[in-house]
Amino acid sequence: MSSFAFSVLFVVFLAITLVVRFWLSSRQIRHVLAHRSAVPAEFAEKIPLSAHQRAADYTVAKTKFGLFSMLVSAAVLIGFTLLGGLQLLSNIIFNWAGPGMVYQLGLLVAFGAISGLIDLPLDYYKQFVLEARFGFNKMTVRLFFTDMLKNTLIGAAIGLPLIWVVLQLMAKSGGLWWFYAWLVFSAFQLLMLVLYPTVIAPLFNKFTPLNDDSLRDRIEGLMKRVGFASKGLFVMDGSKRSAHGNAYFSGFGAGKRIVFFDTLLARLAPHEIEAVLAHELGHFKLKHITKRIVVMFAISLAFLALLGYLKQQLWFYTGLGVNPLLLADLSNNDAMALILFMLALPIFTFLLSPLSSISSRKHEFEADAFAARHTDANDLVAALVKLYEDNASTLTPDPLHSAFYDSHPPASVRIKKLTNKLSDKVDDKLDDKLDDKPMAAHG
Ligand SMILES: [Zn+2]
Repeated sequence: MSSFAFSVLFVVFLAITLVVRFWLSSRQIRHVLAHRSAVPAEFAEKIPLSAHQRAADYTVAKTKFGLFSMLVSAAVLIGFTLLGGLQLLSNIIFNWAGPGMVYQLGLLVAFGAISGLIDLPLDYYKQFVLEARFGFNKMTVRLFFTDMLKNTLIGAAIGLPLIWVVLQLMAKSGGLWWFYAWLVFSAFQLLMLVLYPTVIAPLFNKFTPLNDDSLRDRIEGLMKRVGFASKGLFVMDGSKRSAHGNAYFSGFGAGKRIVFFDTLLARLAPHEIEAVLAHELGHFKLKHITKRIVVMFAISLAFLALLGYLKQQLWFYTGLGVNPLLLADLSNNDAMALILFMLALPIFTFLLSPLSSISSRKHEFEADAFAARHTDANDLVAALVKLYEDNASTLTPDPLHSAFYDSHPPASVRIKKLTNKLSDKVDDKLDDKLDDKPMAAHG
């Protein structure tokens, strides 16, 4: 491929990405506004009009902010690549450090720092203007900056040694470096599954064992029914940062734990909490988490193999606005290849993003069905209504926007399925085939 042809291809894919995203966002805004004046009939008794309108306004504000961020990112991307930003950065660092590992790590650090500084005002606006306007921000400015500092330090402490290993492999392990890098990367991901919940997350939040005895008994009863052993039930002080509520299951092995946001516990009744947890356990028992990890490993292997090919092509650099260093040791270009790959990949894969949304939504339905079998579907419906209302999630998303992006099906669709489940035993039997354990309890 010629360098010019690759530049054209890059610009064409960037334009497609921008146009599609702009089109989907404008559809979303129009659709939400068109349905702003009335609560959908099936929610009319459960959700007040004021909450529905707040959700509409929040969705529109977030979507508009998304469009603005998209334009900033596109400008930054073009600035780094075709307008010569990375070339300039590389020249400066090379003149200072000369060839070698210091130059490569310096380039990556400088690139990361500049990207972070550009994102900073956007993150700040999102938290202290957008989220604050709708009452979701619980963070102080001080906490915002301490978080940022902690993230940077932890990122450097973990990321730099990992990058150093990858650069060593790229330079010294021959044509199959990408395969060895993949092994390292995969081992690192698995290690993080243990380290994140036990070591890293506690640096940001307080985790206290759940001490509500009756809720504990209820949850332990559920875990026994579905055959799940956890290393602990914890409450996290999510309210320190945001009013959004959540529950999650994290880690594996010694790190396997169930975490409830304090905001969730404050808002839901015990039987609703049980239903939400049954949904989360559904993800685990139906092996969604394992499947996601396996898919992620397969995709990263394919991408690393692609990078293995691209980093040897001159047009890959020149087509993206960079002249590679033509030194005796060509591995000096490896850090640049990593940066270019990180920047260009999302542009070329954007149109594939509905695939991951589809698979994720399928998992959500399966987890809902699991929860309906092991707890009362009515409780999950009640919990979902509260969570959608509290999080100001729109009940009337544009169907196409939702199909493209949403990892969770729209509330109305989830609730319709759950409500049908209550009366439809045939459906229940079909769902049981998805799960090894037959229904143990049903409301
Ligand atoms: Zn889920």
